This record gives sequence, structure tokens and C-alpha cells, in this order.
Amino acid sequence: KDIPVASPKRVLLASPRGYCAGVDRAVVAVEKALERYGSPVYVRKQIVHNKHVVATLEQQGAVFVDEVDEVPEGAHVVFSAHGVAPAVVQAAADRGLRAIDATCPLVTKVHREAVRFARDDFEILLIGHTGHEEVEGTAGEAPDNVTIVNGPDEADAVVVRDPEKVVWLSQTTLSVDETMETVRRLRERFPALQDPPSDDICYATQNRQVAIKKVAQEADVVIVVGSANSSNSVRLVEVALEHGAAAAYRVDYASEVRQEWLDGAATVGVTSGASVPEVLVQELLEDLAGAGYSDVETVQTAEEDLMFSLPRELRTDQAGNR
Ligand code: SF4
Repeated sequence: KDIPVASPKRVLLASPRGYCAGVDRAVVAVEKALERYGSPVYVRKQIVHNKHVVATLEQQGAVFVDEVDEVPEGAHVVFSAHGVAPAVVQAAADRGLRAIDATCPLVTKVHREAVRFARDDFEILLIGHTGHEEVEGTAGEAPDNVTIVNGPDEADAVVVRDPEKVVWLSQTTLSVDETMETVRRLRERFPALQDPPSDDICYATQNRQVAIKKVAQEADVVIVVGSANSSNSVRLVEVALEHGAAAAYRVDYASEVRQEWLDGAATVGVTSGASVPEVLVQELLEDLAGAGYSDVETVQTAEEDLMFSLPRELRTDQAGNR
């Protein structure tokens, strides 16, 4: 009798992965706004950095714009999960727009820190990526007090007015290890450097990095589902490579996976960024099963149950009651 031979091919599926509380809230906010006000509902910037989410909401009647001056006066506009500078809030108000603020509460927390340290006359070294919407929003809270530090190398060159009054803050979606290295190098130069009152890199970013580190140790190749402009997704590729994966790739859709990535790979690690709907991961798992990787083992390093309530404007502004 033939005894079936167990396939040596397997998938290690990282957990936590995918949607965080801030992304879930922002996406639901657009859906609720569409339900309540009808289409179009305008959204400043991508609500979250994921192609599929944006395309799906567009089909439902959301209109994505770059700036509030593209929104017709008096219309509803949703601010994305990444947050906005006060100047944007003001520009929307000046146009008579009805703003719905879907900024993640954990980004708002960093904004508040920036405001408070600026008020106390600190110079803020904001570790993050120049040009990223979240960094623009946070820096916009205290433009005269913020200097952006893109990473460890820039830490060696940054110039401050008073080395006794400096604090660092950060973007929420950075690599934890790289940020600690940036801070170490900043502190070498400015020993009085203050830490933020609590972690700026959010729980979701941290948890996804911890999970992929464990997966990467045993994976021949890691596939991260996420969009190219998604900071935390791109970081997951880097973290996988730094922690033992021989190769790591990012895809928006399962169809982008190339056959040669899997050549000779016994163990494929899979995860997804904080803006990625689970359906995209399930599609990838189906394709992998088709390629012989039907044995899926979950590697769980944390439990997540955080949920945020909807933006205030959607809680209080009941239909027909405004
Ligand atoms: Fe909020 Fe973190 Fe999600 Fe960004 S990644 S939306 S900061 S929970």
C-alpha cells in the first residue's frame, strides 16, 4: 500500500498581521459617511495606504483628492488615518467643508506630544520619513520646533539650537530596531535628549514586527502583502531580511508572486501590513496551496483586541439631525 509522504512544503503565517484598530476605524468611517450622506464623500489622501482598500471605496462612491481645495465647498471630507496638520484643518474650515477626522488616535497622541513639547520650548527631533503624510501632519503641529530625522545616518548630522532642550518623537510605523539605533546615535551627541512619554511606534507596528521576526528565522522566503507606499508593510520586508529570511518580497496581490521566488523554498513565511484586508492574504494562501504549500502553521506572538470608537463627527452628527 502506498503511504502518503508528507509534503515538506509549508507556510508559516504570522499573527498578528493585517488590519490594526486605526485602519479599521478609518475604513469604517468612510463607509459610514457614504451610508449617511450618500456619494460622493471626499477623502483627503488615501484613507489608508492600500491600493485594494482605496479601489474598493472608490467603487462605493468615495472620491480621493490630494488637497482640500479640490473638494467642492460645503461637501463632506474625511481626513485619512495618517493625520493632518492644523493648516489643513483650517483650510477645510475656510472652505466650509464638513470634516470627518479619521486620524488614528495613536497618531493624534503624537500630535499632542509635539504641541506640548513645543509649548515648553523643546526642539523636537521627529524620527520619520520626509514626505510621509503622517510626518507632515505631526511636523505641522509645531513647524518651528520640529526637525525631521530620517534615520541613523541623519542622526549624526542634525544640528540643534540648544542640546539641553531636545526631545525625540517618531512616526508610528517605523522599524523598532532601526529607531532605537537612531535614538542611540542622537543620544551620543545630545546626552540630555528626552524620550517621548510613551511609545510612538504603535502597538500594531511593533506586534507585526515581532511576529515576522519569529517567522523569518525559519522561512526560506517571506511574502508580505501590502502596498509600496505603506510604511509598516515595507518595514516588514526589511525586518524579515534582517532576521533570517533568505529572501523577502512585498506584493499588493497574490497574482504578483513569481514562480521563481518559490523555487527550492520549503518554508514560505506570510504576513501583511496594518492596512491590508485579510481577503488578500487568503487569496495568497489559496495560490500557495495550489503550488503545494497547503500545510499552514500560524505563528502567534501576541493577541490584539484593541478597537477605537468612530470619529466624533460620525457618532454625534446623526442623520437628519444636523
Ligand atoms: Fe494607528 Fe498604528 Fe494602525 Fe497607524 S498602524 S493606523 S498608528 S494603529
